[in-house]
Amino acid sequence: MTAPADQSRMDAIVSLAKRRGFIFPSSEIYGGLNGFWDYGPLGVELKRNLKNAWWHDMVTGHDELATPSGAPGPYEMTGLDCTIIMHPQAWRCSGHFDLFHDWLIDCRESKRRYRYDHLLGRWAGYRGRRVFVLTDASGEEGLTATAAKAQKFFGLRAKQAGEIEWEGDLVPLAGHASREEALAPEASEPGTLTEPREFNLMFETRVGAVAGEADNRAFLRPETAQGIFVNFKNVLDTSRVRVPFGIAQIGKSFRNEITPRNFTFRSREFEQMEIEFFCHPADSQAWYRYWRDRRWRWYLELGLSEGRLQLREHEADELSHYSCGTADIEYAFPFLAEGEFGELEGIAHRGDFDLRSHMEGKLVRSGGELVVETDETGKPRHRGSGRDLSYFDDVSRERFVPHVIEPSAGADRAALAFLCDAYTEDEVPDEHGKPRRRTLLKLHPRLAPVKVAVLPLVKKDGMPEMATELYRLLKPHMACQYDEKGSVGRRYARQDEAGTPFCLTVDGASLGDRTVTLRDRDSLEQVRVPLEEAVDRIRERLA
Ligand code: ATP
Repeated sequence: MTAPADQSRMDAIVSLAKRRGFIFPSSEIYGGLNGFWDYGPLGVELKRNLKNAWWHDMVTGHDELATPSGAPGPYEMTGLDCTIIMHPQAWRCSGHFDLFHDWLIDCRESKRRYRYDHLLGRWAGYRGRRVFVLTDASGEEGLTATAAKAQKFFGLRAKQAGEIEWEGDLVPLAGHASREEALAPEASEPGTLTEPREFNLMFETRVGAVAGEADNRAFLRPETAQGIFVNFKNVLDTSRVRVPFGIAQIGKSFRNEITPRNFTFRSREFEQMEIEFFCHPADSQAWYRYWRDRRWRWYLELGLSEGRLQLREHEADELSHYSCGTADIEYAFPFLAEGEFGELEGIAHRGDFDLRSHMEGKLVRSGGELVVETDETGKPRHRGSGRDLSYFDDVSRERFVPHVIEPSAGADRAALAFLCDAYTEDEVPDEHGKPRRRTLLKLHPRLAPVKVAVLPLVKKDGMPEMATELYRLLKPHMACQYDEKGSVGRRYARQDEAGTPFCLTVDGASLGDRTVTLRDRDSLEQVRVPLEEAVDRIRERLA
């Protein structure tokens, strides 16, 4: 990771998120817990609006009689809400038990822990002594960190720094130096790193009252997808869906990330919005392209800047052993270096890997085939459910295991991207015409926590009464706030910062003609509307 493109912008966003009650560190009064975040009064509305928009646009609002643009044909959508703790065998068959890990490495001296693949270094020499200087940063930041580290290690003054002989660029520790030769980022001497260890990212827990027994071990799900696969047959047997169809789920997932970082971007507890879309193998490539493009458009429809988004198809060597195609939708978060993007959502063509794994047992690739992995006695290493998860098409009279397209999005990463994208600073005239700096969140009205604020110009002359009447007209239809505290300029500023797209102000003229001022957050346009029509006018603009 090189220096962030816009750290000051990121700092301003984090500070606004805290100050205005979008996001707080979890258990903050006890010092917080790394990788865990709480959503405050505005944040919970933003995230809920985002999840509701996803559920509406993907599931309940989907027209199953029409062929959407770019789709090979019409399709059905349905939903599920599965448990966080599932039968442990589900994770053995899915591959998470054996494969869902990172490598970590500890420094005995500093007690710091690193992801093995994040440690980079370069060789430095001075008067016959050579050391491999490590950093957990990359690019310019990594070069600066290693230069400072080497200077300190060799006991040199700044003007002697040029005497250090450097060999090559920053390269991974693995394959370039031994641990004895490596000077860890926070260590004073080389050779303090432990053997790299595999670290499974699944959180473990125990089910039932008897603690400590191996067989009551269970896991907090690291993704919501497996709950969908194990219920595939239930959905098929109890609803009238026919392939092609999709099952959607929104829910919490847990990953014991070694280095949670970048605000909520990499958390240990987060929410996912996942679809498993089941289709005939012959049409699967066309469905894959449809979902990749459909999901890309969704972010644009909700206002994410196209210039900060990127759709990236994985190269063949990046694909999982079962995937026939994967694309990531990525966003240029301000905490990343110029030109770098962070994943918002992955869209994967998973073939028949998942349904077959839950039927037959954990699969591995052998030659061009996926086969059940066996142990030394030739038995399946992780036995599947034995249930038939194939599909019988009663029109074509064909039986097959459907292929799966999986659009898998993170609700927290999306909320963060929308927050970052919406954050704007501009200059507007105040009530006396003087230029005033303002901070606003240009959130799409569907995502905005509060849709409209009702403000009496002053707290007297019957204006609060009329504003209360207006507030009560609006409240049954949308998230609406009443605010009479402080100057009207300050109240507008408060609403702009919270991302409220519209304000309705009751002033002296309102008392005479029962019209109110409708102010637009982004254009600052103000128009007068009859109080009785206010609900309809706002609803038109929210649509
Ligand atoms: P990364 O490479 O960033 O760790 P991933 O490829 O492991 O992500 P997936 O397993 O594809 O992620 O998960 C699907 C989505 O879930 C991601 O696109 C992301 O939006 C979200 N997600 C995954 N891990 C986290 C996390 N630790 N914190 C927040 N969101 C996450």
